[in-house]
Amino acid sequence: MGHIIVLDENTSNKIAAGEVVEKPASVIKELVENSIDAGASNISVDIRNGGISYIKVTDNGSGMEEDDVEIAFERHATSKIKRAEDLDSVITMGFRGEALASIAAVSSVELQTKTAGGTYGMYVHVVGGVFKEVRPAGCPVGTTFIIKDLFFNTPARYKFLKKDATEAGYISDTLSRIALGNPDISFRLTSGKTILVHTPGNNDLKSAIYSIYGKEVISQLMCVEYMDERFKISGYVGKPEAARSNRNYQSLYINKRYIKSRVISYAVEQAYSSMLMKNKFPFFVLNIDINPQLVDANVHPAKMDVRFADESYLSRAVYMAVSKALSSNSLFNPVSVP
Ligand code: ADP
Ligand code: MG
Repeated sequence: MGHIIVLDENTSNKIAAGEVVEKPASVIKELVENSIDAGASNISVDIRNGGISYIKVTDNGSGMEEDDVEIAFERHATSKIKRAEDLDSVITMGFRGEALASIAAVSSVELQTKTAGGTYGMYVHVVGGVFKEVRPAGCPVGTTFIIKDLFFNTPARYKFLKKDATEAGYISDTLSRIALGNPDISFRLTSGKTILVHTPGNNDLKSAIYSIYGKEVISQLMCVEYMDERFKISGYVGKPEAARSNRNYQSLYINKRYIKSRVISYAVEQAYSSMLMKNKFPFFVLNIDINPQLVDANVHPAKMDVRFADESYLSRAVYMAVSKALSSNSLFNPVSVP
């Protein structure tokens, strides 16, 4: 008799969760991205104990149909792509259909959702991947997820959680980055009565930067606007004197998706060249709009890495965009405070 067995679904979901759900901030990233994909204009997040004991994400997006509320928790269940070819042109934040299955495998999840056309909403409760309750419920249009007791059934992972305040810090950073990429959506993060993040959602990036970084940063911004046949680059870079001693104040987006790219950070820094002192890094919030077919977002589950079809051309464009901002906008034309 052979030794190989196929793992049951509950077990394989628990293993897959390790890829997607590393800490409370990753749960929030996935849920908030789903809210964005659902077309929400208002997304609020409330946490307790750095999200370890409790996370609540509420949106005013499309909501889910009665027939979709259970299948949504299955692995590879998604409404966002239908076939492999669609992967070449994904414009939604999610598309793997893994997040809800993964989160539900390692926590208690309550979902309340209603579509604009539905006569009633639905309530679903899943604990450790097992459905406890599915029933109609009265609720407003949109979706609310409540996640409790993250990693209650994966002690090895639970052990790696940091102090509440540290986890809350990761969440704050995650939500701030998402908010800066989506100035047309109002985001609110609270931990009980404390407001950690609140952006207006008035589609003005400067207002979002103001909400997150405050007045001083705003007075030191220069506007970036650049367009060629392939890219549109827009956002703000900080004046040289506003440079920081690390790269934490750099936010880069490809089609509104927050990413990290050494190559592009480097291209920005090259544009400052001698304007920066050694070991100083410029502040920036930049979005690059690219034809989705020229980027591969399907690289890693955390979806932070992307690959570009022509990286050196893009670096050059970023360099030119920032150089232009630095020379034309420069110190003579400061950005006004909103
Ligand atoms: P993915 O985002 O990759 O499609 P998820 O597991 O994150 O996979 O979500 C599964 C499906 O559940 C989504 O494709 C979507 O149809 C639905 N869904 C999840 N969250 C929301 C939400 N906040 N509003 C509307 N639909 C949602
Ligand atoms: Mg998703």
